[in-house]
Amino acid sequence: MSHLEGRHAVITGGASGIGAAVATALADAGGRVTVMGRDPVRLERFLATCPGARSIICDVTDEGSIGQAFAQARIELGPVDILVNNAGAVESASFQGTDVDMLDRMLAVNTRAVLVCTNAVLPAMIEAGWGRIITVASTAGLKGYPYIAAYAAAKHAAIGLMRALAMEVAAKGVTANAVCPGYTDTEMVSQALDDVTARTGKTREEVLARYVAGNPQGRLVEPEEVADTVLWLAGDGASAINGQAIAIAGGEVG
Ligand code: NAD
Repeated sequence: MSHLEGRHAVITGGASGIGAAVATALADAGGRVTVMGRDPVRLERFLATCPGARSIICDVTDEGSIGQAFAQARIELGPVDILVNNAGAVESASFQGTDVDMLDRMLAVNTRAVLVCTNAVLPAMIEAGWGRIITVASTAGLKGYPYIAAYAAAKHAAIGLMRALAMEVAAKGVTANAVCPGYTDTEMVSQALDDVTARTGKTREEVLARYVAGNPQGRLVEPEEVADTVLWLAGDGASAINGQAIAIAGGEVG
């Protein structure tokens, strides 16, 4: 199957979790894939599972690093056709325990990075008359959850970036969308389970049961399910899907 026909796709934070599942799906569909991430060991480990993909070191909170990484990606595989803004991080605290430094950290990785990475590829997409910007936001970009105010604010803002961009590029062959997973079975959730377990004294099973209770399907989302939606958005068949924030959460949000 090759419905991406050699399109160059860049996935940030692509060496693990949802990003790795997306990179694999896009490569399997014929895309030429560049994964960007901070950790060379993790990137190498991912490349061993996805022959043909390339990796480039990039810290998406560092504008210089983004500039260099996207320049290198362009030299190696040509202009970027598909950008998946996947890199992200979560920190939790009560609202009153959320200080401006935490808000700045969450905005830097979940929002500012989306703006900077997108602007690194947008001019070439507009010139080519074809492009896909897909941002991995969260259901926390569509509704509130307790104890993650800074993360929720940053993901709401990331969706705002996509919605506004979508209006600017609508007539230029470029689409901009967000996907919004609910709790998904990755290291991010595993780490959160460990933290909450340590902090509250509840068992891991009890904490997990609370997480999945919000999903009407009563389970974690699989990274591959998020990847399937990204794959669809990346193809020609999704040319009319623009400015959407698509929940992948078993019906948790409408
Ligand atoms: P993950 O921790 O496996 O993946 C996050 C990736 O982003 C990691 O590879 C990490 O190294 C990378 N990253 C973090 N900061 C970075 C930086 N400064 N520069 C470059 N890379 C950086 O977790 P995941 O669940 O696969 O998360 C992927 C995306 O999905 C994130 O944006 C996350 O907010 C979002 N998301 C996750 C869930 C979930 O429940 N797991 C739910 C909704 C949304």
